[in-house]
Amino acid sequence: MQDTALFAQILGVSSPWQVESVKLSMDEGEVTVHVRHDPTVPLICPQCAAQAPGYDFRLRRWRHLDTCQYRTILSVKVPRCNCDRHGVHQVSVPWAEPGSRFTALFEALVIDWLRDASISAVARNLGLSWDQLDGIMQRAVGRGLSRREKQYPQRLGVDETSFRKRHEYITVVQDQGNGAVLHVADGRGRESLAEYYAGLDADQLGNIESVAMDMHRPYINATLQYVPDAGDRICFDKFHVAKLLGGAVDMVRRSEHAALRRGNDNTLRGTKYIWLQNPANMKPQRRGMLQQLQRSSLRTGRAWAIREFAMSLWDYSSRAWALKAWRKMLSWASRCRLEPVVKAAATIRRHLWGIINAIVLRATNAGSESLNAKIQRIKRRACGFRSRERFHTAIMFHLGGLDLYPVIR
Ligand SMILES: [Zn+2]
Repeated sequence: MQDTALFAQILGVSSPWQVESVKLSMDEGEVTVHVRHDPTVPLICPQCAAQAPGYDFRLRRWRHLDTCQYRTILSVKVPRCNCDRHGVHQVSVPWAEPGSRFTALFEALVIDWLRDASISAVARNLGLSWDQLDGIMQRAVGRGLSRREKQYPQRLGVDETSFRKRHEYITVVQDQGNGAVLHVADGRGRESLAEYYAGLDADQLGNIESVAMDMHRPYINATLQYVPDAGDRICFDKFHVAKLLGGAVDMVRRSEHAALRRGNDNTLRGTKYIWLQNPANMKPQRRGMLQQLQRSSLRTGRAWAIREFAMSLWDYSSRAWALKAWRKMLSWASRCRLEPVVKAAATIRRHLWGIINAIVLRATNAGSESLNAKIQRIKRRACGFRSRERFHTAIMFHLGGLDLYPVIR
């Protein structure tokens, strides 16, 4: 096979590069396309674009898009030139970015695949190792971050999500305006969030209107340290308050269920999720069960009613009215004699300022639940990540809203 002109066209190889020869190896299922720099065209220093005399050659190989299902390799004697001012440098090639062993078109193909398929499926189908795929993802994210314009997010969401084991966490900062992940950090301490703020200038920090988060002291402290008027910006949103009170309801249910069972009463068996679900989203049958349970004067039912009341107090636009309503809720909750609820109420009382902020600023972290689900899906698709760096890279790859593609010339 010597149709070098055809291959030059298929591969987009043009002057000063020439396809010298094409070798097909049926056994290995591989096409090797030998490319050279036209010896009659002067070399250009990659640093200053001035002509420079040749120095020597380096044989290099790039994997390209397959040709008729044959793995296709560009094998190139790349000249090095010797510039008066910059010394010896390899001339730049148009088909690949420096440092990559894949052509830009091949990397773009891999990026497309990785968006939709699991890492192992891409590795298997394209005959790539995990390290190679990781390199492509890292370069893609690096490109995306360097191209990303300076961000001025107004509404931030901060959340923790589990990594690998149950008690290992990462912190994820999201722009609630466009849903893009802005930052991923190890752990869930003050530093994990502070490192994000530390990268912002005064204009960016001053632009922040709300930061929705869990009632998590380290996140609160980091925000107080960096964000101007943080006391009016920190928002403990409905989603996280629901989680706190839901936990209290569940603890009441568990102890009541245990007590009832000692008297052979199984009223509460299998009811865990009935108490935790939002009744508005329930199927009619479930709602019927809930109503029946409500009639039987259970302690769990009382805890549930307090949570439901709290969940109805999110539509105020006046700070004063919101405060009044929540104080009423808290006075009820603190007198209910259900220990987990009394404890949750005390937590809410200490953080009421941020709940009121969330209400009047309409800060929701509804996106946080779906973000968390997306991150867990990324984790599953990769069958877990052996290293945190890879996990961070994958989150930014899929959820960073970045322009990942290499420049294709
Ligand atoms: Zn030069």
